[in-house]
Amino acid sequence: MDLKVENLSHWYGDLQVLRDINLTIAQGEIVCVIGPSGCGKSTFLRHLGGLEQPTEGKVLQVGEPPAGSLNPLTYVFQDFALLPWRTVEGNVSLVLEGHKLSRAEVDERITDVLARTRLSDFRQAVPKQLSGGMKQRVAIARALSVNPAVLLMDEPLSALDSQTRELLMDDLIDLWTRENFTSCYITHNLAEAVRLGHKVVVLSRRPGVIREIVEIDTPLAERSLSDPGIAAIQQALWDMMREEAQTADMELAEG
Ligand code: ADP
Ligand code: MG
Repeated sequence: MDLKVENLSHWYGDLQVLRDINLTIAQGEIVCVIGPSGCGKSTFLRHLGGLEQPTEGKVLQVGEPPAGSLNPLTYVFQDFALLPWRTVEGNVSLVLEGHKLSRAEVDERITDVLARTRLSDFRQAVPKQLSGGMKQRVAIARALSVNPAVLLMDEPLSALDSQTRELLMDDLIDLWTRENFTSCYITHNLAEAVRLGHKVVVLSRRPGVIREIVEIDTPLAERSLSDPGIAAIQQALWDMMREEAQTADMELAEG
């Protein structure tokens, strides 16, 4: 299934946050969206998931979700959003409980997704026993357990230290290489964008318009920040972002 965004604009009351966004997220693609703080990235992601109504334009789902999909669009957030009193298994089953599945089917999905995210040994652990990186892997497992067509990720690594971020990026690349999932990945971190994005969408400061869409051909598994080609793309993205980020920062400071 592809997601197609057509002429999307969004206002919160008098405040315009997105202007005339056009973008296709094709099956199997990871599209990273970068932009300064407050430019409308999270709002955009909520539009993709159908949690906001566009003031203008639309978001279309083109084609069918994958076999066995219980929910075409699922989220992973910065703060993991795990229930502290539930085990890993219990946190994953949370999103399966609203569906008409037998106990055996729920169990099968949990076993499968924990294996895919290498969490099988932690099935009975509770969140406080897990590191931040592990908690986020549980959130990713939970999001994948319904076989979504598109995984929507809102700054999923921002709450983690830099080493953990590196490890989780490796995990995501590994997972993507095996499963070819489709994702829209919001970040303000350019290093994440050039490691993970097949496309990087650069939004301007608010109201967010698309300034540029940069395609990166190097296969994910072969990317490294020390690779001159990748470093050059990261620098080019920063050149685009610097001025926008400075101005946005001052606007925010002035309220
Ligand atoms: P980003 O994720 O890029 O930081 P957001 O999409 O969260 O940006 O927010 C964009 C702008 O819209 C910000 O100025 C924010 O304060 C404002 N905003 C976000 N959500 C709401 C809301 N529910 N009501 C009013 N304003 C909002
Ligand atoms: Mg945000």
